[in-house]
Amino acid sequence: MLDATAGHLLGLVRSARASTRGELIELTGLSRSTVAARVDALVEAGYLRESAPATSARGRPSRVLALDPAGGLVLAADLGAAHAALAVCDLSGQPLAQFSSGVRLADGPEVVLGWLEERWRELLATPGLPPSPVVGLGLSVPGPVDVATGRTVHHTAVMPGWHEHPLLERLEEAFGARGFVDNDANAMAYGEYHAAWSTAPSMVFVKVATGIGAGVVVDGHLVRGADSGSGDIGHVKIGTPDDGPLCVCGARGCLAAWASGRAVARRLREEGVEATSSRDAAALALAGHERATALVREAGLMVGDVLATAVSLLNPRILVLGGDLVAVQDHFLGAVRERLYQRTQPQATRRLQVVASSLGDRAGVLGAARLVLEQVLSPGAVDRALADRALASPARAVVAATGRA
Ligand SMILES: [Zn+2]
Repeated sequence: MLDATAGHLLGLVRSARASTRGELIELTGLSRSTVAARVDALVEAGYLRESAPATSARGRPSRVLALDPAGGLVLAADLGAAHAALAVCDLSGQPLAQFSSGVRLADGPEVVLGWLEERWRELLATPGLPPSPVVGLGLSVPGPVDVATGRTVHHTAVMPGWHEHPLLERLEEAFGARGFVDNDANAMAYGEYHAAWSTAPSMVFVKVATGIGAGVVVDGHLVRGADSGSGDIGHVKIGTPDDGPLCVCGARGCLAAWASGRAVARRLREEGVEATSSRDAAALALAGHERATALVREAGLMVGDVLATAVSLLNPRILVLGGDLVAVQDHFLGAVRERLYQRTQPQATRRLQVVASSLGDRAGVLGAARLVLEQVLSPGAVDRALADRALASPARAVVAATGRA
């Protein structure tokens, strides 16, 4: 590897490709003293920890390098239309403290982001948390955002008053750390990927709850598209659009207007069945309500129709389905599978696994933390942070540059 920086060395340890200084030397071709200086800087800055020397079979003592989870804290939040999940995570993405509560996004960004700041402060005061600095904050929201600017990009019915609002500035200032925001489907996709599928070459995650959205992970990276717009499959028109049901986006015949949990609840109400939300619809089907079950299955067929195109285009190894309707596994997952196999070529589905979310309600908040870690532990960010530390303490700069104190 050409000129592996300290940040690259951390990446090799995090990805389990190296766990000793000797392996780092072998993999990078760097000199022993250069690796020593860079590893020392990573240990001192709290990114890596090194075990006490253990004598190996050949009698040569070796120390094992690993990410130091306590080297920093990440604040994460998954804001839903009516519910929020919050967490403080360590550098490995493990939650150290969690909180969930009802919240009303319709109250607007000032109220909700102020509330979030207070709850995060309370979580940081949880007894037993390591006294580590907050290195980043991650936010998942139920609407389209421009990841580059951290703003919501257009009006959505779920987030009235949030249009073009800067989601991160206030929170970044409050906690003195960089923030990252993405839509909920991307955050959930990333959470699922790291929880269960990080060895898969490609994964598609689809959330079917109040709305419908998807996130795509290829080679460990979210595929966001040219304008952060990839995955918004809920507004693909199906059938003869003009005749279809009215969608929250104002158009008719969108997939979400036919097959989301909200749509199933609406269709039940039209038939005189009491169901106000996506959760109600799923609960009825789970309890064996015949009409609810039939509508959930129908929703699965429609989602499968649209996903047949996605699967043909991307040939993912894993398709994870999350959200309320997926709780009705046999009917929903079965219907999606059925349609996929009917409407795609065997080459695209032969090795495809269609599974239910393993994280459930926690996918969004844990994924938001992962979005932060991907950024703050990237080689470039780590090298910049080490350079800043060196500037603050010139003695360290000498060590980092020469390997000698
Ligand atoms: Zn729509």
